[in-house]
Amino acid sequence: MTQKVESHAFQAEVQEVLSLVIHSLYKDRDIFLRELISNASDALDKLRFEALTKPEWLPEGEALGVALDANAETRTLTIADNGIGMDYGDLTENLGKVASSGTRKFLDALKEGGEGPELIGRFGVGFYSAFMVADQVTVETCKVGTDKGLRWQSDGKGEYTIEEVDGLSRGTMITLHLTESEEGQSDYTQEHILRGIVSRYSDFVEYPVQMEVERSEPKLDSDGKEIEGETEMVSSMETLNSMKPLWSRSKSDVTDEEYAEFYRHQAHDWSPPLETIHFNAEGALEFTALLFLPGQKPMNFGDGAAPKSKVSLYVRRVMVQKECEELLPVWLRFVQGVVETADLPLNVSRETLQSNRRVEQIQKSLVRKIMDTMGKMLEKEREKYMVFWKNFGWVIKEGLYYAPDKQESLAELCLFEGAGDYEYTTLAGYKSAMPEGQEAIYVLTGPDRATVEASAHLEGMRAKGWDVLFLTDPVDEWVLERLTEYDGTPIQRLDKGDLNLESEEEKKDLEEKQEAAGDLLKTMQESMSGSVSEVRFSSRLAESPAVLVEAEGGMSAHQVRMMRHAGQDVPDPLRILELNPDHPLVQGLQKLHAVDAGSPRVQEFSELLFDGAMMREGGVPKNPAQFQKLLTELMVASLKG
Ligand code: ADP
Repeated sequence: MTQKVESHAFQAEVQEVLSLVIHSLYKDRDIFLRELISNASDALDKLRFEALTKPEWLPEGEALGVALDANAETRTLTIADNGIGMDYGDLTENLGKVASSGTRKFLDALKEGGEGPELIGRFGVGFYSAFMVADQVTVETCKVGTDKGLRWQSDGKGEYTIEEVDGLSRGTMITLHLTESEEGQSDYTQEHILRGIVSRYSDFVEYPVQMEVERSEPKLDSDGKEIEGETEMVSSMETLNSMKPLWSRSKSDVTDEEYAEFYRHQAHDWSPPLETIHFNAEGALEFTALLFLPGQKPMNFGDGAAPKSKVSLYVRRVMVQKECEELLPVWLRFVQGVVETADLPLNVSRETLQSNRRVEQIQKSLVRKIMDTMGKMLEKEREKYMVFWKNFGWVIKEGLYYAPDKQESLAELCLFEGAGDYEYTTLAGYKSAMPEGQEAIYVLTGPDRATVEASAHLEGMRAKGWDVLFLTDPVDEWVLERLTEYDGTPIQRLDKGDLNLESEEEKKDLEEKQEAAGDLLKTMQESMSGSVSEVRFSSRLAESPAVLVEAEGGMSAHQVRMMRHAGQDVPDPLRILELNPDHPLVQGLQKLHAVDAGSPRVQEFSELLFDGAMMREGGVPKNPAQFQKLLTELMVASLKG
């Protein structure tokens, strides 16, 4: 009976990924084997995990492993595992598409001329790397619990076929029809080449990676004694990897290269980790942790999807939870790695994990260790810490909001950009540089550095020679709700409330000026009553005529924009318009109002001042058409005049 062969087209992105992988990684062709062994090991993990609740899926005594088989004559290499296998849906989903939702973005980034290998590494090359070395790939697979074997086949040129095949046992066997190796390229049918790659990239894989090897051994006589001068070829299955989970080895026995390789396997990240944290906890609760701080931001990190921890939980060598959210708080969700303990049951359920005191204790200890490591890095390797902070600082700052008990120690680890002459400063650094007379840490939030840097709020601070911290991460708005002081010094937003910066004398002077202009301010306020709750004189400004301020406890413009961005319906808050009493425009308005209190110009100019201040903080005029009309009229008038 002939089985039906179905043809399918690859999703368009697959073709692009394929050609990128082939062209960018031609120097690192060896990694195809690492990727396929890594997939096989994942498939074995999945089976072992499922078998915890369905023991019949893994008959007692059955050994799990990966087998390599190379044939120099047919130029084929097979990688077989007795893991979970794939059914029809798995095949079409996994080997016909690119799973990551960020693929489009990734491909566009590459086209814009990003570093090929770096970006590809962030994406994870996976199965498709097989086409770097093969012109035909066959996957024969049978999923556990089914008895339907399937054969997937492709030359990597746009299409693949799937057909049913009989007689397959559980697991997956991938056959690569290797292309002729060119001068200087490795021949993947050679035992020593494969052995070298496995020991370099896959030594710690927890399952045996085996291969049948032929050795010439001395011939033995019937008594088992060596016959001198005579040898024979003996073939035997040999395990090529040490299989020792890296974390169970002592720190001094593990090289940086091995850590980096394990991290790659675990995190699918091409670049080495920024920091490795490997420790054993002993005493009442015993566990081993091998954690990594990534050197770069993973693809899609922070893209909407629910934040997930990247740390796997093992109980007595068995992975019981791949991304175990309970092991770390959300604000450390970028940390990668493995935790193993013997103090939890093997069949521990999600629910148990959530309220388990041991898991809580492990979390506490991991957090402490990670924060210690960060502290040391900040103190001793500032440049490195800055790289780390640029990638993950915005995540860590969530801790200031979510973990009140950690607030003090976390605040020490935060870096901030600011108006001063530095790339980043700590709060301690800022505080120690505060000149005499400055009593608060001043901060300004905004969508980006350029907008904040151009803010009129900085003028008064510049005039005084005081530094201001720029808070431009979306999370900063929430952080400031909780982080109201540092080491006894209040943290003050520049755009909110009364800053009380004036001396008694200056205050008196301002009050007098304000009183003299009282009628004008009242008229202005009335003419803009829908947008403004108060018009007053300010000591914040040096060059600009006006700035918008929030009442104490009100929402900042940036906060409003963010809430709207998040889909919330927030009405325009009433703002306070502060005017610079020494600005010629304000003084001119005062004169005009004194002569002709009913002049329509007063209202028009008030609106222009308001709109101008609004644009300065990154907003748009309430009525852009009206704004342009007024501006045009003014320009025409000034040209005539
Ligand atoms: P990744 O491993 O990064 O998810 P791959 O392209 O390497 O991406 O593999 C895609 C998917 O195909 C895997 O996530 C897995 O579900 C499936 N897969 C690949 N190889 C195997 C295998 N040997 N056994 C079972 N499933 C596999």
